[in-house]
Amino acid sequence: SVVTRFAPSPTGYLHIGGARTALFNWLYARHTGGRMLLRIEDTDRERSTDGAIDAILDGLRWLGLEGDGEPIFQFARMARHAEVAHALLEAGHAYRCWATAAELDEMRELAAKEGRPPRYDGRWRDRDPAEAPAGVPFVVRLKMPQDGETVIDDRVQGRVVFRNDVLDDFVLLRSDGTPTYMLAVVVDDHDMGVTHVIRGDDHLTNAARQTGIYRAMGWTVPSFSHIPLIHGADGAKLSKRHGALGVDAYRALGYLPQALLNYLARLGWSHGDDEMFSLEQAIAWFDIADVNKSAARFDFAKLENLNGHYMRSTPDDALYAAFLAFLPHTPDGRALLARLDDDLAARLRAALPGLKERAKTLVELLDGARYLWAERPLPLEDKAAALLDPAGLAVLAALAPRFAALDTWTTESTEGVVRTYAEEAGVKLGKAAQPLRAALTGRTTSPGIFDVLAVLGRDESLGRIADRLA
Ligand code: GLU
Repeated sequence: SVVTRFAPSPTGYLHIGGARTALFNWLYARHTGGRMLLRIEDTDRERSTDGAIDAILDGLRWLGLEGDGEPIFQFARMARHAEVAHALLEAGHAYRCWATAAELDEMRELAAKEGRPPRYDGRWRDRDPAEAPAGVPFVVRLKMPQDGETVIDDRVQGRVVFRNDVLDDFVLLRSDGTPTYMLAVVVDDHDMGVTHVIRGDDHLTNAARQTGIYRAMGWTVPSFSHIPLIHGADGAKLSKRHGALGVDAYRALGYLPQALLNYLARLGWSHGDDEMFSLEQAIAWFDIADVNKSAARFDFAKLENLNGHYMRSTPDDALYAAFLAFLPHTPDGRALLARLDDDLAARLRAALPGLKERAKTLVELLDGARYLWAERPLPLEDKAAALLDPAGLAVLAALAPRFAALDTWTTESTEGVVRTYAEEAGVKLGKAAQPLRAALTGRTTSPGIFDVLAVLGRDESLGRIADRLA
């Protein structure tokens, strides 16, 4: 059965391109009833950090893309990688090379002069190791075929042909005995039983080299799918400005994981014209063969709109749970958490249906909810202060006793008060509602004003009105 893997290098956060690679591996595994394994490629000891490992695991967990089983750590498998290099040496598929740094520099210079990529010229391939200089360290190189072609039948890129005379005898073991990335990936993929390698197309040439190792070991070459990189909305390579952020940044920006997954699935893959679909649908529909060959464009505005749709269509209880889970990830959210008692929680929950209609992200939801816990007297935005001119205050003065006289405090009863007043005064409902909104929320936009009154309750509403009349 199908085994895919996600193999991030823990040298930074889980960026959005990596998350999409993980998603495609995950979807393909789920679609085929197979498994997705997680491998942490932590062999670069200088740049790999525990913090980055945690961030990657955390990001995957948030998205629900955890691997099946425990993650494999590549560095811990170093001895196994070296063992394979030695097996290749013994079988005559690899050789020791004593070329000096100066010699390699010369090869590079020659290549530059001839305008071609640098290439090791194979000078130790057939040379007698007895000629090796004493005490000089060596590397181990793979004997790649020297003529013919290496063909990758890539499921995304199609048939890609590499001339073997441009693929040089690359290094398997460095002079300090440590395995290279090229070797480690193949040994791990083989030992983990990986059947399908799905990764960024920046690894396409590596696939040709890696094929050389598979063949030399007599191992089955996995199916390759090299997916195009993500570009910005303007077609340029993805930069921070375009959204090349860590997954944790998207969480802090208030995106729902389901919305981000839906958006990422659509980046380079599509199912007809469907823009919004559930994870179950994506699993049922996803096939790696349908992934686009050309670069996908990341469009923040689209993601935001999609997130807004998800916010509105998520049931209130689930959205409230997502909101609470989001709070620890921003300073404003932490400030709210610090004061979130049962009373405020009840208000928030009651206000949610009104708030979610106007918010595209959880950040906007949090911002829209601010009036719920503002201290009295409420700070006013400039435009709201302008609404509380003498005419506005006169409206408040007229409404205050009518509200105070209400027996029950509900959306309906408060609406009745404002409507009756507006009719009697001969003003439009909005004219009466706007100063009220300014007094109750400090803003000129908010959820429906009668919902605001109901959520705040009688005492708080009357108090906020009284503050303006004082
Ligand atoms: N660790 C590599 C990277 O993060 C991926 C290697 C692979 O998928 O084969 O780019």
